[in-house]
Amino acid sequence: MEKILQLSAADFSLKKLIEENRGNKRQLELNLVRKANGEWMKIPILLVSGTEPGNILLADGCCHGDEYEGTEGIIETWRNLGPESIKGAFVGIPALNLDAYGSMNRYSGNDFVPVDLNRAFPGNEQGYVTDYLANYYLEHFIKEASAVVTLHGGGNTLFLSPVVCFPDTGTEVSRKAKEMAEAFGFDFLWHDEDIDPAFGLMDQHAYLNGIPVVTAEIGGQCIRHREREECIQRIQRGILNVIKVLEILGDPVQSFEQPCSVHLKYIYSTHGGIHKPQKRDKERVKKGETLSIITDVFGNEVERIKAPYDGIVVGYLVYSIVNPKSWVYLMGTEVKK
Ligand SMILES: [Zn+2]
Repeated sequence: MEKILQLSAADFSLKKLIEENRGNKRQLELNLVRKANGEWMKIPILLVSGTEPGNILLADGCCHGDEYEGTEGIIETWRNLGPESIKGAFVGIPALNLDAYGSMNRYSGNDFVPVDLNRAFPGNEQGYVTDYLANYYLEHFIKEASAVVTLHGGGNTLFLSPVVCFPDTGTEVSRKAKEMAEAFGFDFLWHDEDIDPAFGLMDQHAYLNGIPVVTAEIGGQCIRHREREECIQRIQRGILNVIKVLEILGDPVQSFEQPCSVHLKYIYSTHGGIHKPQKRDKERVKKGETLSIITDVFGNEVERIKAPYDGIVVGYLVYSIVNPKSWVYLMGTEVKK
């Protein structure tokens, strides 16, 4: 078994770690703070440090603890990448929200009240421990990277078509992010024009710090019994192609058929109840058509969720019940370019 090296948060520097490990592959644990049970809250790191300096790609999975496709895709990428063939480094964080990952939940139980890690950026050193984690990750990892891939998915309750999001602002950083997003080869390209630091999203804060970034979403519990390996392979292929875009690997970038370009909006329920989806992934829907019928525990209809515009279904809640004021559908409108 590979030796797992221990690092301390107090004197950690990503660039120093890469320098000190030139020409090597490593498994590491960065110890952040002690938990009540005496164990450390950690960031696991899979590092491939090339023999020569170059760009650094940072890829993270399980920012939301139940989205495991990214974790497995990062492990496979690390396993298949040799330090002798790359310039620069690949830094894989298989489970950024490690305690949430271990408890099979979106959120970690370490905070006094649950904090969504992907709504907590830029984080706060003085906040709850998940706010601290967000701040530490931004300062010590994201800002040190040349580019970032953050991996998400449907987790325990959602279905999501493979979709890759990039900040679409027309800047140089945005153009690089678009190139990375296209290299992912996913079904949908999500043009995110709505950048606001108050949303607390990791990718937007990376972008605001001048780092090209994409968020790739794939898989979920609802399809893992059939498509788990396919999702992992698609992530691995996507990350590898981004590595080529960044010239960490010298091979030519694989080009894919242009995916469907969309703007995405979440559609919410008013009431809770038993949720019966009426439209499936990639179905084209006209304004006013029924997306979901919600009934009470006696089977009486309490709400019909209608499409607010013409569009295409990219994701939806697959859990049998829905909470009031909760998102039920993710609908795209095509970007005409
Ligand atoms: Zn997520």
